[in-house]
Amino acid sequence: MLNQRKRLWDAPPLKSHYDAVIIGGGLHGLATAYFLATRHDIRDIAVIEKRYIGYGGAGRNTAIVRANQRTQENVPLYKEALDLWPVLTRELDFNLMFYNCGNLNLAHSEAALKAMRLQTATAQFHGVDSQLVTPAECKALIPALDISDRPSYPILGGMFHPPGGIVRHDAVVWGLAKGASRKGVRIHQGVEVTGIGVQKGKVDSVETTLGRISTPRVLNAAGAYSAALANRLMGICLPISVLTIQAMVTQPLKPLLDHVISSGGYHIYANQTLKGEIATGAHMDRWPNYTTQTSAHYIKHQAEALTDLLPCMRGVKFMRTWAGLADMTPDMAPIMTGNDPVEGYYQDCGWGYFGFKSCTVAGKYMAQYMATGSCPDILLPFDQKRFEAHRLMGETAALVSYSADN
Ligand SMILES: Cc1cc2nc3c(=O)[nH]c(=O)nc-3n(C[C@H](O)[C@H](O)[C@H](O)COP(=O)(O)OP(=O)(O)OC[C@H]3O[C@@H](n4cnc5c(N)ncnc54)[C@H](O)[C@@H]3O)c2cc1C
Repeated sequence: MLNQRKRLWDAPPLKSHYDAVIIGGGLHGLATAYFLATRHDIRDIAVIEKRYIGYGGAGRNTAIVRANQRTQENVPLYKEALDLWPVLTRELDFNLMFYNCGNLNLAHSEAALKAMRLQTATAQFHGVDSQLVTPAECKALIPALDISDRPSYPILGGMFHPPGGIVRHDAVVWGLAKGASRKGVRIHQGVEVTGIGVQKGKVDSVETTLGRISTPRVLNAAGAYSAALANRLMGICLPISVLTIQAMVTQPLKPLLDHVISSGGYHIYANQTLKGEIATGAHMDRWPNYTTQTSAHYIKHQAEALTDLLPCMRGVKFMRTWAGLADMTPDMAPIMTGNDPVEGYYQDCGWGYFGFKSCTVAGKYMAQYMATGSCPDILLPFDQKRFEAHRLMGETAALVSYSADN
């Protein structure tokens, strides 16, 4: 007898009307669909994905999650995002493999330590566990670290954030797709959105490669393609640059890294997967492009940086490298807006390095925004108008000054 296992999500035909259309079957699109269906009883939703779900950053990221961002606008958002992983694991009845092993950021200069002091204070003010640690404490956390004066960038201290860690990224895609589909959301893969119809200042339809859909609401959650889409379909010019991020994994090793580590000095981060591989990344090409090719230069950089910090890794082989695209804003904070410039048009983009760790909470609040039409307070700072008003947030410094942590 055939084993008739149920698929995680259905593949029904495209309808001609939906109460909401979501462009992009990535992390943010699927999470928003899930929260619309489960928290707001809006279930007549199409998630339109031009390739396959998880094709974008969703399936390429290095799965790091944490809440110790730098600014007061961002920390509460990421704190709630972190708190949502165990909740979603239960709700979705799907093992997202949340492993809160903690994140250790290394400081290699007085300036980096100073920035960490500020960041730790902000985190603690918002109830996020984040502590400054000495080089000896870094070594106690990761015994393989070389804390002597030998490395090119000696370790002067660090910031340890115990509740952060890693979550299995493809499980998140599949779990959200399963949960949304069970509530009636229709996921359409291999269909591209090519236009948005507007009548009398309101969204009334979406054009796709399979025809026109009427709908009063559309969310642009197209990740790295969202800015080009906003420009082409809505005439909106978003201050987003698309850059390539590369990552790689080594051969499996015995347990070596109990925590995620990152270093702005070396521009590197690494964690050990459950299989034993060291997953490592951080490099971002410095010029805008849409390529997902990797480069030999980066493999060399990563090998040199890793072995300088963790000398026991000399001779270890990389098994696989890959790249994905990041939609970067000038202040490294996202853009989440609605009903602007037309009613029914929403966008959730500009997540750069941070779109995996944030997808739970962004989905939750974008769903609320789309269901009620009014912007939840927590999302107010992320309006694109901040750029026109020169009110940029300070998340850039969170990356540049000391941390390659994503
Ligand atoms: C190598 C790498 C490592 C990373 N590591 C981390 C990390 O450790 N932690 C972290 O928080 N973040 C990380 N990120 C960033 C994170 O992956 C992204 O920010 C996140 O995936 C953004 O989610 P999204 O839903 O906005 O976009 P995506 O997940 O990219 O999904 C967008 C989807 O939209 C689809 N699409 C585009 N145009 C159309 C269209 N016209 N019609 C239909 N569908 C369309 C695309 O095919 C894609 O599937 C990393 C990224 C990369 C590349």
